[in-house]
Amino acid sequence: MQLQKTQLLAWKILNHGKRFVNTSMTREKSFRKAYQEFWSPKPMNKPPYEHFTQIGDPVLRTKAAEVPEELIGSKEVEHIVEKMIKVLRKFDCVGVAAPQIGISLRIIVMEFREGLKDILPKPIYDARKMSTLPLTVVINPTLTVTNYEKHKHPEGCMSVRGYSAEVERFNSVLFKGKNLNCIENEVELSGWNARIAQHEMDHLDGKLYIDRMDSSTFICTCWETVNAKSGRVEIPFYK
Ligand SMILES: [Zn+2]
Repeated sequence: MQLQKTQLLAWKILNHGKRFVNTSMTREKSFRKAYQEFWSPKPMNKPPYEHFTQIGDPVLRTKAAEVPEELIGSKEVEHIVEKMIKVLRKFDCVGVAAPQIGISLRIIVMEFREGLKDILPKPIYDARKMSTLPLTVVINPTLTVTNYEKHKHPEGCMSVRGYSAEVERFNSVLFKGKNLNCIENEVELSGWNARIAQHEMDHLDGKLYIDRMDSSTFICTCWETVNAKSGRVEIPFYK
């Protein structure tokens, strides 16, 4: 039976990065081979992940593909978006692009929770022009700069865990794209939310903030703790 084009594409999306692992022992398999396989790492996990892919993973350096129009309302794309929202909230961050959970598709999820205003120091919240942004899902986004004034602030990325650097970003952008119901939306973003959109758009083109940073400001975010605790500090990649 032949698969429909859209079904086949959906299958390909969900099996992106899948490695075939054969755990069954056959009589023909030599003891030596079985022994070697026992000790070699077996990648059982496959995308969409519930963790952030890290720099070095080729998916972060690949230009992501557009989501085909006919798949935008599909269960497969919905499943990817659900995972993105889950990861965004689990790691308490403000933006995630699909390549960051191992899926090379042009999907971005952003959210700047109201509660962050109470957690972040007010001078930082104000200086970085932060503001609340409701959960925003954008499929096949386009970004147009509407105010070319630039601001330089420290930026971090869950895919370059444990580091940060100052990056210049444009003040305002017009962010357009489809939502899960295939409806075209547009939102004008400024300040920190415009920064999030520019950062996440870069992810879709295989770029990271380290490509745009002022390298003299690049720091390990816990360098002081490393000194205070005689190096006994760990950066977790899970939550
Ligand atoms: Zn990032």
